[in-house]
Amino acid sequence: MKFPTTRMRRLRKSFQVRKILQETKLNPEDLIYPLYIKEELKDRQKEHIDTMPGQYRYSLEGAVGEAKRLEEAGLSSVILFGMPEHKDETGSSAYDNEGIVQNTIRRLKDETELVVVTDVCMCQYTSHGHCGIIKDDIILNDESLNYLSKIALSHAEAGADIVAPSDMMDGRVDAIRKTLDENGFFNTLIMSYAAKYASSFYAPFRDAVCSAPSFGDRKTHQMSPYNINEAIREVDLDIKEGADIIMVKPALPYLDIIKEVKREFKIPTAAYQVSGEYSMLMAGIEAGYLTDESIYESLISIKRAGADLIITYFAPKILKEDVEYKC
Ligand SMILES: [Zn+2]
Repeated sequence: MKFPTTRMRRLRKSFQVRKILQETKLNPEDLIYPLYIKEELKDRQKEHIDTMPGQYRYSLEGAVGEAKRLEEAGLSSVILFGMPEHKDETGSSAYDNEGIVQNTIRRLKDETELVVVTDVCMCQYTSHGHCGIIKDDIILNDESLNYLSKIALSHAEAGADIVAPSDMMDGRVDAIRKTLDENGFFNTLIMSYAAKYASSFYAPFRDAVCSAPSFGDRKTHQMSPYNINEAIREVDLDIKEGADIIMVKPALPYLDIIKEVKREFKIPTAAYQVSGEYSMLMAGIEAGYLTDESIYESLISIKRAGADLIITYFAPKILKEDVEYKC
């Protein structure tokens, strides 16, 4: 059937018709909000992150307060990033039972119903800023697995619902799953940063958590933006090692990866709308070139590509300010 019998514009004739025919929906429970908790900050102190307008580093108390306010606004889950006072070669404060993340997990599990996800890596905790154990300027893969497992276990012991290894070492999902199971944490989920690209869009985050490496870069473990087949292999391996949820990071420049991964594996899929995506949109809005609708549209594109969950700094704006793209 073709024109004039078929008229596509009939489908768009009014707001109400467009609304009932909307194919993609963004729900509050799709959003995971990243919280940066800085050990040095006391009471309700918070520090503005200049490279990410409107985002803050929180004290433990401040993070708990913000999480509660967001829960009231409809948020279902948070992902925690710790910024410790003490850094050393092995990132020992990352698996300290009294560490900043472990203490925050306990408070959130006591005082909220939020699903608590924790980022598992070493780079924020090591003096050299790398994601593993270093010898002769090389990141040692197998030696790092033991440390990553210890970090994940300490998070599970503190009550984390989901541990999310972001290091991109080979075999880390398998190592973490075994350690969790050996210690009785069969029900702690693993969300693996499975297809994590060595992206320039992380720049504002590095400023936010001060985790830029002291030498070299992350291109020996994070993926090349040129590759898609390699992403499929990475995801396949993480699923075989026991990942419950897989993640693609960043989101907007990698929508094709999200779509391909979802189509291929049909597994719960998360996408990380990273700091550079956030700051880019915020800069456009502040300059008057874009509007809040652009934020919503970018989130819809990530869902439309196939993501079930979106880690996004825009969660407060969407929930508290009721930002939406009006169809
Ligand atoms: Zn790292």
